[in-house]
Amino acid sequence: MALSSWVESANGHRDFPLENLPFGVFRLGAGEGRIGAAIGDHVLDLAGCQAAGLISEWSCTRNTLNELMSRGRDAARKLRSRLVELLSDGNGDREAVSKHLVAQRDVEMLLPCAIGDYTDFYASLHHATNVGSMFRPDNPLLPNYKWIPIGYHGRASSIVVSGTPFRRPVGQTRDDATAPPRFGASRRLDYEMEVGAFISRGNAAGDPIHIHDAEENVFGLCLVNDWSARDIQTWEYQPLGPFLAKNFATTISPWIVTLDALEPFRVAVPPRAADDPQPLTYLSFDEDRAIDLTLEVSIQSQRMKDEKIDPLTLSRGNFRDMYWTIAQLIAHHTSNGCNLRPGDLIASGTVSGPARDSRGSLLERAWRGTEPIELPTGESRAFLCDGDEVIMRGWCEREGAVRIGFGECRGTVLAARLD
Ligand code: CA
Repeated sequence: MALSSWVESANGHRDFPLENLPFGVFRLGAGEGRIGAAIGDHVLDLAGCQAAGLISEWSCTRNTLNELMSRGRDAARKLRSRLVELLSDGNGDREAVSKHLVAQRDVEMLLPCAIGDYTDFYASLHHATNVGSMFRPDNPLLPNYKWIPIGYHGRASSIVVSGTPFRRPVGQTRDDATAPPRFGASRRLDYEMEVGAFISRGNAAGDPIHIHDAEENVFGLCLVNDWSARDIQTWEYQPLGPFLAKNFATTISPWIVTLDALEPFRVAVPPRAADDPQPLTYLSFDEDRAIDLTLEVSIQSQRMKDEKIDPLTLSRGNFRDMYWTIAQLIAHHTSNGCNLRPGDLIASGTVSGPARDSRGSLLERAWRGTEPIELPTGESRAFLCDGDEVIMRGWCEREGAVRIGFGECRGTVLAARLD
């Protein structure tokens, strides 16, 4: 039974019905950032509601979500329950609340929190196998993959919110093993469709998060585009892993969807193959559940924009196909005593499924350039060109539940700066 809101655009909204209420930070004009919740085509200004005495569950003294995150998931649960009351049909305070609604088209979304640290994992077996088979055909999957969630420490300083364009990176590459490397604009720029988890309370150094407590330490999820320069990556990644191939830009969607909102879409993790190892005890959780979250990637080239041609869908995958769950990633990340702090971002790694059209990077989709994608203009893409916009969307839907969505995560490639 769907909840009914007096905010009419919320009822039947594809992303932001009353069942979702994701949190984010917005601003009007050149104003300060303000904490808000998405409802239909609007944003509810939570700072305004609080000042008017409509919310007593939590006081927002800052213009980022870190403080709410630091109070743990219970605080966010209480706040969301209060927001459901305020926005439901039949609420007597409707007139007072409506003063704090702003149209989403009138606001600019900002980063939802100060992201202190960012870690990127590699949790899709399909992605790891695809990429491995391109670079090591005889040995696609390294022997550690099914034992240990592989990750690297990313760079928080270059995380940007959806809609922010970024420059094509310049760097050192070597295509010809007999010649010296060149220094110039990347020629193999790619995207990676990922899901990010924001940490809520976190842990003290030396005090690992038990896998049973891992999800209580997740404030919510967003979409992540881990832009990747494959030619820079190929030349630099051994022996210490990705560095300049990854840290020039990472785009996130602005709304954080809580795990509570995602609860109706929990599903069993995919069955492991008969010869797969059982996870070690610290990564085992008998109630481990995946999330049925559809993830779609589209592209619109500059020429498609000029000719008013709609974006072309490149892939549609599902987060439920991941080999490692978010709880396992967090348990593993903190297993050595590493501390996570409120607002830290943990990304899943590229989400790829078994089918060709569920591959979450262009590297895989165009199979290292050997199967280029035809655009409706007649252009073709093996990797991204300047002016290309990549649009990611995510949503959950199933029979008997109200569909919720993440909104968009989009970014446009600008020409490299070579002077
Ligand atoms: Ca990645």
